Amino acid sequence: RKGNVIITGASSGLGLATAKALAETGKWHVIMGCRDFLKAERAAKSVGMSKENYTIMHLDLASLDSVRQFVDNFERSGMPLDVLVCNAAVYLPTAKEPTFTAEGFELSVGTNHLGHFLLSRLLLVDMKKSDYPSKRLIIVGSITGNTNTLAGNIPPKANLGDLRGLSGGLNGLNSSTMIDGGDFDGAKAYKDSKVCNMLTMQEFHRRYHEETGIAFASLYPGCIATTGLFREHIPLFRLLFPPFQKYITKGFVSEEEAGKRLAQVVSDPSLTKSGVYWSWNKESASFENKLSQEASDAEKARKVWEVSEKLVGLA
Ligand code: NDP
Repeated sequence: RKGNVIITGASSGLGLATAKALAETGKWHVIMGCRDFLKAERAAKSVGMSKENYTIMHLDLASLDSVRQFVDNFERSGMPLDVLVCNAAVYLPTAKEPTFTAEGFELSVGTNHLGHFLLSRLLLVDMKKSDYPSKRLIIVGSITGNTNTLAGNIPPKANLGDLRGLSGGLNGLNSSTMIDGGDFDGAKAYKDSKVCNMLTMQEFHRRYHEETGIAFASLYPGCIATTGLFREHIPLFRLLFPPFQKYITKGFVSEEEAGKRLAQVVSDPSLTKSGVYWSWNKESASFENKLSQEASDAEKARKVWEVSEKLVGLA
């Protein structure tokens, strides 16, 4: 049978390019978890995906009720779940004031980390039931967890501190909106959320790889400077960022190439190792990359896991 893969945020950018790459092989049915049904349908059509290769299901990661509803809908479809790709993200670098999810968590960490944390914990149950030979749970990371690069060192740098803001619920009332308890900074909130993504992947690996055989992985697909992720940025930035990445840092990849990379992590028989953060070199060959000290801190991973469980109502 075909493999079934859920991809969150498959209505644009990396998620869409990955959905297209997998659908084209004829070996995958892609479940597109998207907050805007019409946009997702148009996106799938625009890249030429044919109807029998995808299903769109509503998912708003900024609402835990919606996450639970999505899991219900998926389970009712009767499809087995073989691979989950947590890809969706928001990035709010110019926001002066924080905005919030339905439950009142700061939006970047609430969407990118907490929404995906609940989703992947609930769907793990479904993945365990699947008889697919190479089951994988992938959480898209970022270079910010990778301090041996130029881009990983641009301030504001990620820092989760002692998690006091996260423990308080990131609500701006009786707690800070930032994980480390500091003042709101949209760019830093995004980077912090990506560190949480990479810590979560490793904690999944430690807790569940042996028992389930599922491969847990994260990746940095390269800088895809053309995606909607930068839609909130100032116009001058949006104009200069793609050429800067192309000619100065040389980290630029097209959406198509990045989609092929993520599709490899989903289905390539050679990328089955668990607990790995994948990157690609200039020749587009994959390698196991090193994470920054904070993004590979096992004690912090355990704490983020435990605090997140409480926030999303699993503990
Ligand atoms: P895009 O903005 O193009 O894609 C993000 C997707 O997430 C969109 O489909 C968006 O939906 C979706 N999304 C946002 N909020 C929600 C929500 N509340 N519920 C459901 N879906 C939501 O950006 P990219 O393709 O660049 O980003 C994809 C991933 O790649 C992210 O995890 C990002 O961190 C990562 N990444 C990107 C890099 C880059 O250079 N672009 C570099 C490294 C990592 P909608 O279409 O409705 O807006």
